[in-house]
Amino acid sequence: KILNPIKSGQITQDLSENVILTTVDDLYNWAKLSSLWPMLYGTACCFIEFAALIGSRFDFDRYGLVPRSSPRQADLIITAGTITMKMAPALVRLYEEMPEPKYVIAMGACTITGGMFSVDSPTTVRGVDKLIPVDVYIPGCPPRPEAIFDAIIKLRKKIANQSLQERSAVLEQTHRYYSTTH
Ligand code: SF4
Repeated sequence: KILNPIKSGQITQDLSENVILTTVDDLYNWAKLSSLWPMLYGTACCFIEFAALIGSRFDFDRYGLVPRSSPRQADLIITAGTITMKMAPALVRLYEEMPEPKYVIAMGACTITGGMFSVDSPTTVRGVDKLIPVDVYIPGCPPRPEAIFDAIIKLRKKIANQSLQERSAVLEQTHRYYSTTH
């Protein structure tokens, strides 16, 4: 007796066991969030906590995070430390040199608001988001390495839920932001 594979349910079972169905958005996002490469960037004491992540105790490579020295090989910048007025143009230039899609995590009180330099300091940028668009903020002085992991997980969730259309809208916003502020 010859069995009809469709009627017998054989094909349906084979499909569910061997074929993964997804959307272009999900596949694209999965690739992005699984291999975020942060740029080695630090301007003050917060960077000491960021550097601790690279060592064996926290081992952040297991999240697919591979630190890069060149902005052209990075898609994530963690601004760790005070941003001075002198450093501001260099930071914007580094950000512009990173390929899209790219993300920013603002780490610590100094980078988020100017911190202890936020009152009457003419030499400190009072908020890195005045220079580049920020995706996740980590408050603290300094935030511990575990808080950086928490921010990475938040960023991964954000990437996972972002459609290509939404990302294009963010890009357009960023370009408008540049054309009005730079
Ligand atoms: Fe240093 Fe605190 Fe400022 Fe971080 S937030 S750069 S630890 S003073």
